[in-house]
Amino acid sequence: MGKITILPETTKNPITLIGSRAGYCWGADVSDDAKNYKRGLDCITSDHGRTLEYVNVELVLEGYSARVIREWYTHIGGAPTRLQASTRYIDYGDFEYVTPPSVAKDPKAEEIYKKAMSAISEAGKALEELGVPREDSAMLLPLGMTTKIVDRRNLRNLVDMSRQRMCTRAYWEYRQLFGDICKALSEYSEEWAEIIADRMKPKCEVLGYCPEKRSCGRKPKAQ
Ligand SMILES: Cc1cc2nc3c(=O)[nH]c(=O)nc-3n(C[C@H](O)[C@H](O)[C@H](O)COP(=O)(O)OP(=O)(O)OC[C@H]3O[C@@H](n4cnc5c(N)ncnc54)[C@H](O)[C@@H]3O)c2cc1C
Repeated sequence: MGKITILPETTKNPITLIGSRAGYCWGADVSDDAKNYKRGLDCITSDHGRTLEYVNVELVLEGYSARVIREWYTHIGGAPTRLQASTRYIDYGDFEYVTPPSVAKDPKAEEIYKKAMSAISEAGKALEELGVPREDSAMLLPLGMTTKIVDRRNLRNLVDMSRQRMCTRAYWEYRQLFGDICKALSEYSEEWAEIIADRMKPKCEVLGYCPEKRSCGRKPKAQ
């Protein structure tokens, strides 16, 4: 189970902020937050995507696999940035790792999985004892090991991410990670709860059909 920490730089009232930024361009009264909120909602429901880019989201993601973070890194729209835990300076002698449900439910499979992880851990320690530097023994570390990142992106990027990663075809851990982020943001403020409920949805919900080659059947396939 991973952990999401929302950093204080994350915009607290995203809808009001969007309305305020748009208000400057419309010659409106931006000192009135009730009006800003209303204008912000208009921008969002009208799909004026650029206005979503003023909303900052800064998160610490930890306890998720290096593999799912590798997929996280493919969402580059809006030039997000991040730092990742070092594999040179941190001691991963007894690294933690994610066990997929398909493995955890089968005791035999789980035993094989645990043994493989333990063998990697022991090999890493043995290499270090022989004087191999950590940056080189770290080559053995598996994609299933957990990692930590500090991530910054904007709301538009996250809404776009929901289209791909709330899709049933997405990797199960990513769907879980995305659900954890939505839950954490929903608890951050009422405006976030509103945005998450209204905007975060898989692409089939927006398109009305499924564009994936192998569909889950939730929506009809594209003609
Ligand atoms: C089921 C599934 C299987 C996948 N399999 C693989 C795989 O095997 N290998 C793999 O590498 N990836 C895979 N991916 C990841 C996928 O290919 C994309 O990399 C990922 O979804 C991020 O790209 P994006 O366009 O959704 O988001 P972003 O890169 O964040 O882009 C968002 C939007 O911004 C705009 N944009 C972004 N960059 C540019 C640009 N340079 N120029 C112009 N416009 C831009 C576009 O409008 C784009 O739609 C998979 C994803 C899914 C859901």
